[in-house]
Amino acid sequence: MTVTRFAPSPTGYLHIGGLRTALFSWLTARHNNGKFLLRIEDTDMARNSEEAKDAILKAFEWVGMSHDGEVVYQSKRFDLYKKYIDQLLEEGKAYKCYMTKEELDALREEQMAKKERTRYDGRYRDFTGTPPEGVDPVIRIKAPQEGTISFVDGVKGAMNIAANEVDDFIIARSDGSPTYNFVVAIDDALMGLTDVIRGDDHLYNTPKQIVVYNALGFKIPNFYHVAMINNEQGKKLSKRDGATDVMEYKALGFLPEALLNFLVRLGWSHGDQEIFSVEEMIELFDPKDINKSASNYNLDKLLWLNAHY
Ligand code: GLU
Repeated sequence: MTVTRFAPSPTGYLHIGGLRTALFSWLTARHNNGKFLLRIEDTDMARNSEEAKDAILKAFEWVGMSHDGEVVYQSKRFDLYKKYIDQLLEEGKAYKCYMTKEELDALREEQMAKKERTRYDGRYRDFTGTPPEGVDPVIRIKAPQEGTISFVDGVKGAMNIAANEVDDFIIARSDGSPTYNFVVAIDDALMGLTDVIRGDDHLYNTPKQIVVYNALGFKIPNFYHVAMINNEQGKKLSKRDGATDVMEYKALGFLPEALLNFLVRLGWSHGDQEIFSVEEMIELFDPKDINKSASNYNLDKLLWLNAHY
């Protein structure tokens, strides 16, 4: 069964780029009679807000994109992540690294002076000595340093990344809290995701997540990395371009169907058809048809669509 998700970080309102990738995921699930799950990525305690979380859920309700099952909160899953960290340590697939911030900075400077890529050098990978005193270690995963990490992205095509592009990255900070790429991979696997559809700003997180999938023996889902929405001038869409908060469209009197129709056309097409009911979108949508290139936001198009509903 097809399982997709939307996984927002509740650090601000839901912007239309986020709603567009959520829509693509939702349509993929509904088209296949699958499941669309919602996961709130609220591990960054300093930047999260309850208000932002509520605003995201409200925006979903307004546009009528229902999710299946309970909302999953990463903040409630720390014990689970800890279990996998311990497992990897026990299996020798992860290790404690006692490098201090000063040592890391020095390494970075050295690499930069040599015009090398800055990366952790694996110095604690096979460490068996006495740990230095007074340093709370981080946990790093052993990322394979030979061969290629390959996956076929449903939008971008074949991706081949030299394995040594990924260093032994941190999976748990010195305070024990797990890091982003680690928990995303665990959650996507445990929640049974078959298709991960998200913004292409996450494309280069994928090799790291694949390292986690492989270390834990999880099945790797299909990935679709969707190009950003640009403004009318072809530059990255930002607040300066007008409404980017989904709920502002509600306040401005736009109809949710018109907004969804507008968003589905930003990166997907079906011949030259412009107007789609939600039912038609569900019937016709296939993530394989997502465009490779970025799409431009066009307010006139939205106004035109809104007049049709
Ligand atoms: N929480 C991430 C974000 O809001 C999305 C993670 C993902 O889709 O894998 O950008």
